[in-house]
Amino acid sequence: MELISIPNQQAIGKVWLVGAGPGDVDLLTVKAFRLLQQAEVVLYDALVSPEILALLPASAEKIAVGKRAGKHSASQDQINQLLVTKAYTRKSVIRLKGGDPFIFGRGGEELQTLVDAKVPFEVVPGITAASGTSSYAGIPLTHRDHAQGVTFITGHCQLESRPMDWQGYANPNNTLVVYMGILNAEIIRDGLLNAGRAASTPVAIVSKATTQEQQVFKASLGELATLAKHPELQMPALMIIGEVVELSDSLNWFEPNSTSLQGKQSLAL
Ligand code: SAH
Repeated sequence: MELISIPNQQAIGKVWLVGAGPGDVDLLTVKAFRLLQQAEVVLYDALVSPEILALLPASAEKIAVGKRAGKHSASQDQINQLLVTKAYTRKSVIRLKGGDPFIFGRGGEELQTLVDAKVPFEVVPGITAASGTSSYAGIPLTHRDHAQGVTFITGHCQLESRPMDWQGYANPNNTLVVYMGILNAEIIRDGLLNAGRAASTPVAIVSKATTQEQQVFKASLGELATLAKHPELQMPALMIIGEVVELSDSLNWFEPNSTSLQGKQSLAL
């Protein structure tokens, strides 16, 4: 789509691409907090929690552009166009995304549009879901005895066009974090098992991490597909695969106090 800009005019405003973190409002950066309080227009994704949206001034124009399964959402082209249009007429435009805008957030694509339209911008990092989940579920992503590295992948496998590097992901000394993977749990399990990762490798699926509704579901890699179909599993949810998952037995400090859940939520098969 061709972007419409206003000839012979410059944007009066600036766009801040801001990471809102994984859910807990206290995990916002001070910079994000300050910017949100001064925002004139905010375009936000479905993953941004209501507690964070409550920080916006009543006068701010709030535009939901996020995707919620099954519901209509703005197309990427429409979002890009809105960002440019708003920056021509407003001083402070916030593009608010869940987690970190540069991790599976299409932040790069949106900024390219601003570059093309000569709209100034800044990027404010956020705590990505993997970090929030890791801390609040008590699963250190690396550990000298168990994992020398960690890899973040999308499980929204565009399998035909970009094949997944299962051989690389199956490294037993590495922790694998899978974003957007729940619906493809079977493909992920098979890919890793066929590449030689042990079926006994511990896995955790953490849903609504860092919120009062956080739940942790644990099993082994061989059982991943069954775990992903757990009737109580809610979205969004993240998978952590690797020996480090076992550390959560002793490190899970976070106790959500949701009325529908009791105490520490750790559900096994
Ligand atoms: N930019 C975001 C990720 C967007 S992709 C970030 O840095 O976190 C969306 C995926 O992130 C979801 O499908 C889920 O796998 C994960 N996710 C986001 N928030 C989450 C949360 N609170 N708990 C568990 N997973 C979450």
